[in-house]
Amino acid sequence: PSDGKKLGVALVGLGGYATNQLAPALMLTRNIELRGIVTGTPSKIPVWKEKYKIQDKNVYNYETFDRIADNKDIDVVYVVLPNSMHAEYTIRAAKAGKHVICEKPMAVSVKEGQAMIDACKQAGKQLAIGYRLHYDPFHLEMMRLTREKTFGAVKLVEASDGFRAGDPNQWRLKHALSGGGPLMDVGIYAIQGARYTVGEEPLAVTAQEFPKTMPEKFKDVEESLSWQLYFPSGAIAHSFSTYAAGVNRLYAAAEKGWYEVNNAFGYSGQVGRTSKGPMEIQHINQQAAHMDGVALSIINNTPNIVPGEEGLRDMKVIEAIYASIAAGGKKIQ
Ligand code: NDP
Repeated sequence: PSDGKKLGVALVGLGGYATNQLAPALMLTRNIELRGIVTGTPSKIPVWKEKYKIQDKNVYNYETFDRIADNKDIDVVYVVLPNSMHAEYTIRAAKAGKHVICEKPMAVSVKEGQAMIDACKQAGKQLAIGYRLHYDPFHLEMMRLTREKTFGAVKLVEASDGFRAGDPNQWRLKHALSGGGPLMDVGIYAIQGARYTVGEEPLAVTAQEFPKTMPEKFKDVEESLSWQLYFPSGAIAHSFSTYAAGVNRLYAAAEKGWYEVNNAFGYSGQVGRTSKGPMEIQHINQQAAHMDGVALSIINNTPNIVPGEEGLRDMKVIEAIYASIAAGGKKIQ
């Protein structure tokens, strides 16, 4: 910001993403800095205080969290909790008069997502979703190639995201905390990629869930699924998401060529190519770019580019995918 003042952010939920990505990225940001933490694990407090010079008055737990309303150091609350807790903490943060960044998926249902948008609107505060790839130069290039029709109109997108889930006891495999399996966790990036690479909003979806190869591990959520989105121009997107194997790809076939990013949805290591040759693009710190971008929108009082409404569009697609699966396929034998 021009006056040199940074916004202060409090991270809510000091798990893997907050610890290994967000807090280190907040050492690189220009418009926002880490000032507060909200945690249910007391042993994490001294470690974070020491490492990030966090003052005692800026440390909260889930019971004391609402008192953040009185804390002038904190402008933004960043919700990095398991998915089913996103709505509650976003709404509580808005009621406390804070801007909110909430991780993806924004919620576990369209209904919750809408309630979050309404709460932030009512509070006159911004809501941004943790869609770091909207600030990643490889994904911005995919959007540009579509927007400028460099290779003509897009006809097909293939977008898939999955990884091999380790710990069988993690919250990601418990429906009550995750709201769903790989679709909620990483399939949402394939939905995002399809939407911004086609450059349209989908009209309809068909989806399939596959028999579980590890039924004991995936008692509560899907192991793998695929879906096809149909867009107004006639473009289609085909996607796969899984907790059984690594897959990570965004590909567009257009009238006069193709463009793609491999290792598309990771924090780094993107490899971009088009039918004319490699994308010569520098990698950046996505998390720093995302938080700086959102912070600048807050400072300038302009809309951010990853608002709650963007999160809600994905929640609608996710609900439609689960509904299509529930409607079922036809058994052959
Ligand atoms: P972790 O399991 O590593 O951390 C979640 C943290 O939430 C815990 O460490 C804990 O923090 C807190 N928590 C509070 N209640 C519970 C509970 N009942 N069970 C488990 N944890 C609880 O998850 P991640 O950091 O990987 O994911 C957090 C969120 O961030 C998810 O919504 C995920 O989708 C999203 N995410 C986004 C990424 C991106 O690239 N944008 C990447 C990774 C995750 P404490 O001990 O401090 O209370």
